[in-house]
Amino acid sequence: MEIFEYRGMQVQLIAKTIKHCYLRIKPDGLIMLTHNKWVKKSAALELIDKNWGLIESKLAKLSKPNDLSLGNEIYFLGECYKLNIILDKKIKIEVIDNCVHLFTPKDEFEIKIKILNAWYLQQSKPILTKQYETYLNNISHWKIIPPMIRFRTMKRRWGSYNKTTNTVTLNTNLVKVNTDIIDYIIAHELCHIRHFNHSSAFYDELTRLHPTWREQKLELDFLSSKI
Ligand SMILES: [Zn+2]
Repeated sequence: MEIFEYRGMQVQLIAKTIKHCYLRIKPDGLIMLTHNKWVKKSAALELIDKNWGLIESKLAKLSKPNDLSLGNEIYFLGECYKLNIILDKKIKIEVIDNCVHLFTPKDEFEIKIKILNAWYLQQSKPILTKQYETYLNNISHWKIIPPMIRFRTMKRRWGSYNKTTNTVTLNTNLVKVNTDIIDYIIAHELCHIRHFNHSSAFYDELTRLHPTWREQKLELDFLSSKI
């Protein structure tokens, strides 16, 4: 699994006994392509070429400075706030008007991001639970055992449904977007109770449950690069 230079970037090809290819960009900019072991190197590189536009936009996002300094944009429930840093022994976050005031003992990124993420997590539980319970009421006619709700901070997914454990998992980062988008994700996961795959029947169900889902999906896709 050698790492080599390709198009000016570090690339790693990983051969496995898998059906599909997976392309990942690591935080340090390494392009990782996991592919079926019978796929030739030239074909794997061709796939990278094909997705180069996407790779470039992801790389650009990585190099975007996000040092959590004064004036940075902070998203909460679909609103954009300006960040204010206050050096203080007492750790806390206060939202006043259009500002998020972050009280931190040190002006260091690692400390500030920890404080901010802990705050997001704390905010997310009651907010997401409330939206979830409202949605469960909307499907009371389904006569199902309501799935349990779990929270996780995830990088790649907004939510998931586990049939075996009958659990809906929601990404705590959803607290950054508006409640319409939160509802769309909840509706999406609840539809998986009835339809395992993203079949046309699945989308028919989603349209019945949350008719404006396409709007929210578009908005979320757009926001994903910012939040
Ligand atoms: Zn799904």
